[in-house]
Amino acid sequence: MTAAAAQAAALFGRSWIFLRGITRLEDLPPAGPPEIAFAGRSNVGKSSLINAVTGQKGLARTSNTPGRTQELNLFIPEENQRRGDADIPQAVIVDMPGYGYAAAPKAKVDQWTRLVFEYLRGRPTLKRVFLLVDSRHGLRDRDLEVLKLLDRAAVSYQLVLTKADKPKSADVVRVLEETRTQVAKRPAAFPEIIVTSSSTNTGIEVLREAILAAVSS
Ligand code: GDP
Repeated sequence: MTAAAAQAAALFGRSWIFLRGITRLEDLPPAGPPEIAFAGRSNVGKSSLINAVTGQKGLARTSNTPGRTQELNLFIPEENQRRGDADIPQAVIVDMPGYGYAAAPKAKVDQWTRLVFEYLRGRPTLKRVFLLVDSRHGLRDRDLEVLKLLDRAAVSYQLVLTKADKPKSADVVRVLEETRTQVAKRPAAFPEIIVTSSSTNTGIEVLREAILAAVSS
């Protein structure tokens, strides 16, 4: 096992807990350990992926009702709260509210944009945003708007294809290539795209190591 894989195993072998959900930036805990955030359209598979990465089925709530309260949900390893452990990297996972459901009124979209943009701009400990994209569809218009927002906020981000078990593998490759081309010229985007499935655990180790690299940077 490489050193990075061993550290990732230590970070994600711990028990992760829900810290809090916030709707206003004032309610964020003071900036502490490095954070990474997950963003994506509603139903992209974000909760399932957070649960797969942390190895805890019920941590993030799956199948959220679109349009419910828009919150940033924070998760931490249990030991972070009890005692600092010098040998194991510290991290906070932030689950951003899903976006892009068809019936969203403009006021909701504006509220989402405000909360997310303020968070992206105002959080010095945020190391990387993992932007989730359904491997059946690739980037859609609303995703492209979010990419612009991330570039504008100058936050480093990496794309993650989800549900890769669903389409034929040739179609996953095609969407991967298309997506790669679409992000190639974007200033804040990582060139490497991670292909995942929470159902088969494809790419979960790769994603864990990417999170580790981000919080260790
Ligand atoms: P969220 O709204 O982005 O948090 O998405 P969820 O994690 O709640 O997933 C939405 C739906 O997609 C649920 O029915 C999940 O069971 C399903 N789903 C999530 N991830 C995968 C996956 O990797 N493969 C398959 N086949 N289905 C998935």
